[in-house]
Amino acid sequence: MRINLLGAPVDALDLEAAVERVAAFVTAAGPPRQVITLNPEILFRARQEPALLTLINSADLVTADGVGIVWAARMAGTPVPERVTGIDLMLRLMPLAAREGWRVFLLGAAPGVAAEAARRLQAQHPGLVIAGTHHGYFQPGASSPGAAAEPGQLTEDEVAALVRRARPHLLFAGLGAPKQERFIARHKEAMGVPVSMGVGGSFDVLAG
Ligand code: UDP
Repeated sequence: MRINLLGAPVDALDLEAAVERVAAFVTAAGPPRQVITLNPEILFRARQEPALLTLINSADLVTADGVGIVWAARMAGTPVPERVTGIDLMLRLMPLAAREGWRVFLLGAAPGVAAEAARRLQAQHPGLVIAGTHHGYFQPGASSPGAAAEPGQLTEDEVAALVRRARPHLLFAGLGAPKQERFIARHKEAMGVPVSMGVGGSFDVLAG
C-alpha cells in the first residue's frame, strides 16, 4: 500500500518486502526504475521545492527512511511497518545480487571510496559482480569539449554514459540527497539501469 505524507508518496513496506519489490523490478525487464529512501530532511525540502516533490512522486518505490517519517505516518493514521534505510536496502540486496548474477555499479563519494566499498562487498559476497565504480565528483550538465573544470573530471552526461556502458542491473548512487535523486531522475532513461537508488554516505561507511 502507498500512503501520502504531506504530498509525498511512501510505500508501506518492511525491509523484506522492499527487497522483493526491487527484485521484481530487476527481473521484470521493464522501464528503468527509481527507488527513493525518503528521510524527513528531503520531505521538508520537497515542501518548498515543487520540482523535488514531483520527482519523489515519480519514483517507483519510496521507503520511509527515518523514525520521523515512520512516526508522522502513524500520526496521520496511515502507519508504515518500519524504517527502511538506503544502506539497509543496499546491503540486503547484495547476497541476492551475488546469487542471481545481478551486476552492481557504485557511484559516489570521494575518489577511491566506492572502489574500496566494492572490494569489501565482494569479499563478503563471493561471486558478486561489480559492473563498475566511479567517484561522485563530476561537473553538472552536458559535455562541452575542453571545458573540464579539473583535468580528468567527467561531466554528468559522461558519467551517465559510463554507467550505461557498464550495463549494471543495480545502480547505487551515493552523492548525498537530493543530488543523487536528481541525478537518477535526469539520467535513468539514458543509463537504462533496471533499478537505481540513492544511498547517501553509505560508501564511506562501507569503506570504513
Ligand atoms: N558526495 C558526492 N558528490 C558530491 C557531493 C557529495 O559523491 O557532489 C558524496 C560524499 O562524498 C558522501 C556522500 O555523497 O560520500 C554524502 O553523504 P551524506 O552522509 O552527507 O549524505 P546523506 O546520507 O545525508 O544524503
